[in-house]
Amino acid sequence: MVSARFRVQVTVMCSRCLSMFESPLSLDLQEEFLSDPAVNIPLAPGEEPFVITKGRELDLDEAVRQYVSLEAPLKSLCRPRCAGLCPRCWRNLNHESCVCSLVEAVN
Ligand SMILES: [Zn+2]
Repeated sequence: MVSARFRVQVTVMCSRCLSMFESPLSLDLQEEFLSDPAVNIPLAPGEEPFVITKGRELDLDEAVRQYVSLEAPLKSLCRPRCAGLCPRCWRNLNHESCVCSLVEAVN
């Protein structure tokens, strides 16, 4: 039985301006690793058991990868008040401004 607490940095895309940024993520991992994959324990359909390698190594890579993909935020912002992209010229309004809204106001 593996019980571990991880703190990782994941790269996620801002749902407003589409820029990539690093976000901290805390994970509580609890998994059973089998020394013999033939051991009959009940598994959900399609579920692959974690196994201890032939060299008696506990390889956590796949377990951590699965936890990260489940826990990574689907919608997050790169900053609390992300200005997003201009819907007309697609400029990132966090870094530059455009005159699209002014042009629209004049017309
Ligand atoms: Zn953003």
